[in-house]
Amino acid sequence: MRLILLGPPGAGKGTQAQRLVSKHHIVQLSTGDMLRAAVKAGTPVGTKVKDIMDRGDLCPDALVVAIVADRIEEPDAKNGFILDGFPRTEAQAAALDRMLAEKGLALDGVVELKVDEDILIRRIENRVAEMTARGEPLRKDDNPEVLKTRLHAYRGQTAPLIHYYRDKGMLRTVDGMAPVEEVARAIEAILTKPKQRAAMQPTSTKSSKPQKTRQKSVKSVRKAAPKTTAKVKKSAAKAAKKVAKKVAKKAVKTAKAATKGGKKGQKRRPAGTGRRARG
Ligand code: AMP
Repeated sequence: MRLILLGPPGAGKGTQAQRLVSKHHIVQLSTGDMLRAAVKAGTPVGTKVKDIMDRGDLCPDALVVAIVADRIEEPDAKNGFILDGFPRTEAQAAALDRMLAEKGLALDGVVELKVDEDILIRRIENRVAEMTARGEPLRKDDNPEVLKTRLHAYRGQTAPLIHYYRDKGMLRTVDGMAPVEEVARAIEAILTKPKQRAAMQPTSTKSSKPQKTRQKSVKSVRKAAPKTTAKVKKSAAKAAKKVAKKVAKKAVKTAKAATKGGKKGQKRRPAGTGRRARG
C-alpha cells in the first residue's frame, strides 16, 4: 500500500501514519523526521536546512525529493509506505508522480485530514504550556509563532495539492478534528473500499486504453503529416507557377506598351507603380 497523508502541521498525520504502519506492515516516510535526523547528525543537508526548519519555512524541493527518492529505494519500503509531510508543493507532487511511474508503482490514495486551523493553534499553545510546565524539551518549530509560519506555508504551497489530487480522482477527505480512533476508522474504510481504491489509481495508470488510443491518434497524425505537407507543397508550387506566368505575361504587355510610348502605355502601368513614374 502506498498512501499520502495530507494536512496542515498538527493535523494528526504522524499519529495516523503510525497506526497504519503497525496495521499494514508498511513504513512511515516522514520528511520532517528525516530532515530533523539530518540536522541532529550535522550532515551537510542538515546544516543547509536547519535555519529554514527553525523558521517554519519549506526546505528546497530538489533536496526533499532526492531524500524521498533514496528512501523509497530501501528494502523496507518495498512492501509499501505512508508519506507523511511529502509532497508539500506541486513540484514535489509532480516529482513523486515521475518517481513512481519510473518504478511502475501507483498510489493507493491520498487522504486529506481536514482541520480547523484556529483550533490547531490553540492545541499547540496548550501543548507547549503543558510541556514547559513539565520541563520537557520543545522542538524549535513547536511554538505558536512558528506554527503560524508553517500554516502559512501549508495554505500557500501545500493546500493546492488538494486540487491536484482531486483532479486525478485520488483525494479522500477525512474530518481530522474527530477523535483519533474515529479518524483511523474513517481512513481504514477508505482503504478497504474496492471501488474507491480503483478510483484512486493515478490518471496515468488508470487504464492503458485511453493512453493507447491517444498514442494511436498521435501516431496517425504524425503519419498523415508528410502526405498532407507534400500535397500542400505541390499545390502551392502549382499556384506559384500560375501567378508567375500571369505576372510575366502582364510584364511583357506593359513593356510592349511602354516601347510604343505615349499616354496609352502610362495608363496601362500596373497599380502601385505610379511612384516610380513620378520619381
Ligand atoms: P513536519 O514534521 O512534517 O511538520 O516538517 C517539519 C519541517 O521540515 C517543515 O516545517 C519544513 O521546514 C521541513 N519539511 C518537511 N517536509 C518537507 C517537505 N516535503 N518539503 C519541504 N520542507 C519540508
